[in-house]
Amino acid sequence: MPLIAKVATSVSKTAAALSRAAGRGDGSVIGGWIGLKIDPDLLAHLASGRAVALVSGTNGKTTTTRLTAAAVGVLGRVATNSFGANMPTGHTSALAREGHTPFAVLEVDEHYLAQVIDATRPKVVALLNLSRDQLDRAKEVAMMAQLWKTTLAGHPEIKVVANADDPMVVWAASASPQTTWFSAGQRWLDDSFVCPESGHPIERAQGEWWCTGCPLRRPRPQWVVEDEGVIDPRGDWHLVKLQLPGKVNIGNAATALAVAGEFGVRPIEALPRLARVASIAGRYAQVDKDGRNIRLLLAKNPASWLEAFDMADQAPTLLSINARDPDGLDTSWLYDVDFSPLRDRPVLITGDRAYDLAVRLQVNQVPFRHVQSFDEALAAVPPGRLEVIANYTAFQDIRAELDRVN
Ligand SMILES: [Zn+2]
Repeated sequence: MPLIAKVATSVSKTAAALSRAAGRGDGSVIGGWIGLKIDPDLLAHLASGRAVALVSGTNGKTTTTRLTAAAVGVLGRVATNSFGANMPTGHTSALAREGHTPFAVLEVDEHYLAQVIDATRPKVVALLNLSRDQLDRAKEVAMMAQLWKTTLAGHPEIKVVANADDPMVVWAASASPQTTWFSAGQRWLDDSFVCPESGHPIERAQGEWWCTGCPLRRPRPQWVVEDEGVIDPRGDWHLVKLQLPGKVNIGNAATALAVAGEFGVRPIEALPRLARVASIAGRYAQVDKDGRNIRLLLAKNPASWLEAFDMADQAPTLLSINARDPDGLDTSWLYDVDFSPLRDRPVLITGDRAYDLAVRLQVNQVPFRHVQSFDEALAAVPPGRLEVIANYTAFQDIRAELDRVN
């Protein structure tokens, strides 16, 4: 590495450590920011010499990145941004912190994929899904897909691992000559009813989808989720045992196995490592308090709410909604989510925007009770499991409250 990059790396690590010591989070954003101020090419310098995989998409990035890092770890040490700091500052900080590792697996915000590909020259890019995110911030889904498509067309050397079930992802990945397809299902269909190539309607039946006006259709996947396991490209089925809940996470595991497969890792080697992943930056964490087993699920946009309903047990469920800056200020997305799967369980609501949620649940005919605090929620449910589904800052609030009592 050039001298300037060495200096920048050292300063970046010190800044991150100081920030952590001051109790201001994990320090990865400030550390990366300072490093890049000193050496604008620091990310490229730190990535060089490593075999890199990037993981991008609207939902499931953090979990899939963590599982992929575990799987690639079969081969040697892996640097990863496991705290969800998924922009170049976070990548820079993660690579600086880990020192030299032969491998890196990085979660990338979908808007930054082109920039991070240019800096890190990845061997593999995994594309999970594209759906609407925070309404006042995110790009339109079709614009995002176009951006990815253009980027991948300029990098034919990259191996792309992409979700065959998401028409937007398939269209974007079709620009690459080296694509491995996985099928992890697509629960959220509302953002892909229209073909991004020709504008015709997309039809779906028996797990397949196709455009009614052009050749775009679901490619045949090499990695497929089936029952509680995954079929590999040789046709062998592997049982996937995870501590993480839901079919969604078996899909995330299938993606991780497919990416690790591009590095030469076999499922049989990776699976025991996936089984050890318990909680990711507090997500899926289980806390016992007053005889209640509380499980935390993060849901930040319509597609991830549907996924959270899939992961949650049939148990009392607390929903918490805020609309602060990191959440997006507009809560009209509540009407995009079908809350009816919650009708058959006790539902509690809280958060800054509990009343928005109350109206939505009323319209959706889901009975609920409003509580003012997490303690009140705990007191309102019997001993046993309490599922908590919250959006971003609401999730952080509840985590902080639980950390205080533990
Ligand atoms: Zn079409």
